[in-house]
Amino acid sequence: MNRGDAEGRDLPGARRPGGPSRRQALDGIARELAAAGIDSARVEAERLLSLAVGISRADLQLSLESELSAGDARTLADAVRRRLAGEPLQHIEGSVEFRDLVLAADRRAFVPRPETEQLLDRVLEWARERQQALRARAEARPVDAEGVRVVSRPAERAYVDAALDVGTGSGAIALTLADEHVASRIVALDRSHQALEQATENRRGVGQTEASVEFRLVEGTLWGAVGEGERFDLIVSNPPYVSTTEMERLPPEVRHDPSEALVAGEDGLDLIREILAGAWDHLRPGGALFLEIGEGQGERVEELLRETGDWARTAIQKDLAGRVRFAFAERR
Ligand code: SAM
Ligand code: GLN
Repeated sequence: MNRGDAEGRDLPGARRPGGPSRRQALDGIARELAAAGIDSARVEAERLLSLAVGISRADLQLSLESELSAGDARTLADAVRRRLAGEPLQHIEGSVEFRDLVLAADRRAFVPRPETEQLLDRVLEWARERQQALRARAEARPVDAEGVRVVSRPAERAYVDAALDVGTGSGAIALTLADEHVASRIVALDRSHQALEQATENRRGVGQTEASVEFRLVEGTLWGAVGEGERFDLIVSNPPYVSTTEMERLPPEVRHDPSEALVAGEDGLDLIREILAGAWDHLRPGGALFLEIGEGQGERVEELLRETGDWARTAIQKDLAGRVRFAFAERR
């Protein structure tokens, strides 16, 4: 059924002898998605229509008065049906934009979210500040016997040496650390074989990773899959943090993510507890841990941090919408 067609014909404006215009289809779908309780119905409708027609959203805006072909109408109807059945838009599109990367999105791994982009903003800010501090210290040092001042890393090099991404899923965090030259050696760990398959594919899309970064995808469970003596300057994770009871209340889209990517025991803190149990020992002095956490978990995570190390600095931080979302700890 072409829902856009059926709805579009009721609208005022240009009626045409053939099928509906793209604009009519768009208006119809936007209303249908909104009626189904989808928040950004208009934007999603535009994306579904662009996908069906095979053009960018910008080009779509310039061609809204064109007729929607019968073939495109069928593709569109199928995409809308999937969306109304609760499938996330990114699975239908088959990809998701994450910072500067375009990553595959399907049932194999958790679809990366905007909150995690914000977590990476914090990581980058920390890495830059740390580099500046190291530079300033090097510059303050008196010149050596040959009159040469030893300055820290050149600007084009990575900010830190080694980083670990716990529960890499699609590879979103680890690949960003590579792409944005945050670390020169990166371990991306996940216990899900399927997720790592997707991460491997995504890695091929990040060209410069190959050349300048030692990038290792590891299948296994924390901390067993990390060498006992292995130390990092940076540990970053968006772990599963949803509790078993919360899981039942999540919207249908979220249930298309693998449940092992979301659920972490009765209080949602199972993996966070494990990360914290080993983070101190696996960080180098001056290294830092960055975690994405659930909105209601700030106080508990702060307590756990106090119990697991004599940290130089810790912080529980909010996202741009003012919700508690992140935890930070820097090792002495
Ligand atoms: N880092 C990705 C992102 O931010 O989009 C994916 C995060 S997803 C919420 C959590 C990931 O942790 C899943 O891919 C899951 O398979 C993995 N995971 C869960 N428990 C784990 C464990 N004990 N050891 C390793 N990986 C684990
Ligand atoms: N932010 C996710 C959601 O509820 C949960 C992510 C996670 O458990 N890491 O959609």
